[in-house]
Amino acid sequence: MKPETDSDNNDAGKSETPLLEVIDLKTWFPIKRGLFSLTAGHVRAVDGVSFVIRRNETLGLVGESGCGKTTLGRTLLGLERATGGDILFDGISIPGMNRRQMNRLRRHMQVVFQDPLSSLNPRMNVMDIVTEGLAQFGMVEGSKQDHAAQLLGEVGMGRDAIYRWPHEFSGGQRQRISIARALSLKPDLIICDEAVSALDVSVQAQVINLLLQLQKDYRLSYLFISHDVSVVSNVADRVAVMYLGEIVEIGNTVDIVGNPLHPYTRMLIAAVPVAGGKRISEHVVRGETPSPASPPEGCRFHPRCPDVMTSCRKIPPTVTEKEGHQVMCHLYRRT
Ligand code: SF4
Repeated sequence: MKPETDSDNNDAGKSETPLLEVIDLKTWFPIKRGLFSLTAGHVRAVDGVSFVIRRNETLGLVGESGCGKTTLGRTLLGLERATGGDILFDGISIPGMNRRQMNRLRRHMQVVFQDPLSSLNPRMNVMDIVTEGLAQFGMVEGSKQDHAAQLLGEVGMGRDAIYRWPHEFSGGQRQRISIARALSLKPDLIICDEAVSALDVSVQAQVINLLLQLQKDYRLSYLFISHDVSVVSNVADRVAVMYLGEIVEIGNTVDIVGNPLHPYTRMLIAAVPVAGGKRISEHVVRGETPSPASPPEGCRFHPRCPDVMTSCRKIPPTVTEKEGHQVMCHLYRRT
């Protein structure tokens, strides 16, 4: 679990307005068929998702691949168009922003992707990569070299890296360069999309420690997207579990990991490798995720759920508050 910090115990200075508020967000992609490309249906990648991220907080977003978490991150960044719902950044609606406002917002919301080699321009040296955003926003004061060296210093790299090229570095170093680039504009929120998934376990730990240190230093908020519950549990204050376009459970990390309520969350946690082999549990992951183009009727998880009841096949569950969790499951519905 993430250790408590002084700032955790000092809420007095925190603004009441969440940094990010996502309200019933939908991102659907049309399925075009036939000679006239008529819309035959929709892939409901994100389908009615709501959550908040507070200042200086990390929200972990977990789920198997194909559950919609990357599309959700891309929609928050304005890289996909929202089909419905709202996204408020510091109280201001993002979907209603014009291009100029959106560009200004990009300063405050940055991203670190999984594969730094493909997200770092191979034709740019490290100095140009990490100062590119500063140059775009006219924020380079003094020498570009000094800016780059200072940013690289923040992520534990030396000045000697500034004239080198992305392919000359290891995966962990490239990810540090990506983080330095994200930091350059002094953002409030960084979306880490599987940011440590491609790294060895020891390098993962170093990059996670770096992210936690930077959060302390700059009061950053993170949306930490990962398929790996064990990684998320080391970073996040709260965890949201996503399945087939919906958030099925959300709560404090300690509660979600220690006492998962939703059968899908239990499956994800049961799949986490432990020393000496995998956990033996009735909640092993089974079956494949159905297509988001035709999600199952009733509860979307019912074809895979070990606790399925008759009502689950017909009636979609709604969100219930239970033991500090918000959970979408008929097992916890109010009577
Ligand atoms: Fe399982 Fe029913 Fe809960 Fe869905 S609503 S997770 S099928 S018990």
